[in-house]
Amino acid sequence: MTRSHDRVLRERAAAVIPGGMYGHQAVGLLPDDYPQFFSRAEGAHIWDADGKRYLDLMCAYGPNLFGYGQPEIDAAYVRQLGLGDTLTGPTELMVRLAEEMTLLVSHADWAMFCKNGTDATTMALMTARAHTRRKTIVRAKGAYHGAAPWCTPRPAGTTDTDRAHQIFCDYNDVASLEAAVAQAGDDLAAIFAAPFKHDAFIDQAAPDPAYARRCRELADQTGALLIVDDVRAGLRMARDCSWSVVGVEPDLSTWGKCIANGHPISALLGSEKARKGAASIYVTGSFWYQAAPMAAALETLRLVRTTDYLERLSAMGERLSAGLTERAAAAGFGLRCTGPGQMPLYLFDDDPDLRKGFFFVSQMLQRGVYLHPWHNMFLCAAMTEADIDAVLNAAEDSLAALKREAGGLAPVAKLAFLAGGQR
Ligand code: PMP
Repeated sequence: MTRSHDRVLRERAAAVIPGGMYGHQAVGLLPDDYPQFFSRAEGAHIWDADGKRYLDLMCAYGPNLFGYGQPEIDAAYVRQLGLGDTLTGPTELMVRLAEEMTLLVSHADWAMFCKNGTDATTMALMTARAHTRRKTIVRAKGAYHGAAPWCTPRPAGTTDTDRAHQIFCDYNDVASLEAAVAQAGDDLAAIFAAPFKHDAFIDQAAPDPAYARRCRELADQTGALLIVDDVRAGLRMARDCSWSVVGVEPDLSTWGKCIANGHPISALLGSEKARKGAASIYVTGSFWYQAAPMAAALETLRLVRTTDYLERLSAMGERLSAGLTERAAAAGFGLRCTGPGQMPLYLFDDDPDLRKGFFFVSQMLQRGVYLHPWHNMFLCAAMTEADIDAVLNAAEDSLAALKREAGGLAPVAKLAFLAGGQR
């Protein structure tokens, strides 16, 4: 039997990349037939290393908002590459981009740019500590804010000191938020908030406006800063900070992923109050001032302002979630489609180790649709109504296969830890 190019690449990777692959793009916790390597992408589609094409509902884990290789954005990027990218100093584009972002995001009076979401969340933490001259932060259990030592979900390689001065509460639970803030006493520097509950492996949840308002009040009462981590949800919920949908403005917000449609740039935005603290911290990077991603970001923001992408994403997402729920019910399954339709997570009822979910997404993969079994997904504006129909048709066949096989599905050994109640 000939081995796929993907398998050959995995073997080569195992020799020269620790663990074969690392981080969120390692496929170790996905079904065995999921490809690890890809060769190209266009619009809403990706091709794996063996040339098989998929409609991609992961959108690079968020960065693809207007379609892979969106012509206007990439033309702006390439034009700037020709003029200069990594230089001895920034270009005018940095000022223009800060102006554009502060115009778009109502709480923001200033912007700082960096590369990854983790850079932005770490800068937010430092800004809050510098502003308040305090140390403690309150954040929700299970919420992801990046992979720096203070927040990486797996503690290997970190020290207790790296992770000190943090108190955890339950998202959307006002009483636990109040208890955490009380525990911080007079040392509270910041309350971190995800725009909605988008933890892995469990149902997503919209922010309770009462929780969001209480975060704001407690920050105001204590003098701490309120931080909304919009790295994942930014520009997919609103043309503003995502908590604008519940009428709450933070002091700081963190952005990344899709703000330049996949080109490498992230941002920390802040209100006037936090400006001095932000100016006092020393943060930088060799590639943080690159001009070409800024050109791409400006073009992305132009599309955000001038197109109906957001309304289309949300309408397509709602149709997809409703259609899947309905088809699953018709096949005799409870399928929970949680989160906003444009950032959905699909989990089956009575599926503690995700064996049904794994079987379903594998069936979808065979039919050319790339879904994720336990992480929220992302729609992009290059998707069409015909793409949504294609997903629903593939789901009908995949659900029929699941119905035939459900009784005999084996446990998913690689997800055995879920049964241990770690979800
Ligand atoms: N915050 C949130 C909410 C995220 O979803 C992510 C990335 N998944 C990050 C921070 C970290 O971003 P990055 O991986 O670009 O460092």
